[in-house]
Amino acid sequence: MMQPITAKLGRMLRNDYENQACSIAGALEVVGERWSLLIVRDILLGLRRFDELQSHLAIARNVLQTRLTRLHEQGVIERIPYQERPLRHEYRLTEKGLDLWPTIVALMQWGDRYAPPEKGPAVVIEHRGCGGSVDEHRICEKCGAKLRARDAIGRPGPGAKPDHPLLRPRAHAGASAAGSPAAGSAAG
Ligand SMILES: [Zn+2]
Repeated sequence: MMQPITAKLGRMLRNDYENQACSIAGALEVVGERWSLLIVRDILLGLRRFDELQSHLAIARNVLQTRLTRLHEQGVIERIPYQERPLRHEYRLTEKGLDLWPTIVALMQWGDRYAPPEKGPAVVIEHRGCGGSVDEHRICEKCGAKLRARDAIGRPGPGAKPDHPLLRPRAHAGASAAGSPAAGSAAG
């Protein structure tokens, strides 16, 4: 059946995969835009503030702002004020955002295998407090625990560049220690 062209166009612009009755398409509506998963990765790695994210990702500020707004609207991240005048926020992952951790780990492990960085992985994931490495089922190879985001910690791997977030001094580490996986776990 013919539809008014404007309505059709409007929906096309809002939603790339509207005609896909598929959960993968639905997930990509939320995190499939360029940079979105890398923003989630960086927040997992402990970057919280706009300038930190912008500096590490080296993307245009307006693009970063658009992506952050979208992730916030979708409930993937939350905004926590850390300064009143002028008002400034930092970004944390919600439970919905933390539930992307297995996806990030799977992408990282797939990349380590099929698209490895020249000098090796930038990040190696460990079981926090145990030191065991994480297998493809997200089970600790040392103690056998099934790991979730908060159980894991990212360590700099051989491919980590000098400015990698895991190698930086953490000026506001105290603010991020509670509640979320502080030193993160994601890919680099
Ligand atoms: Zn372990």
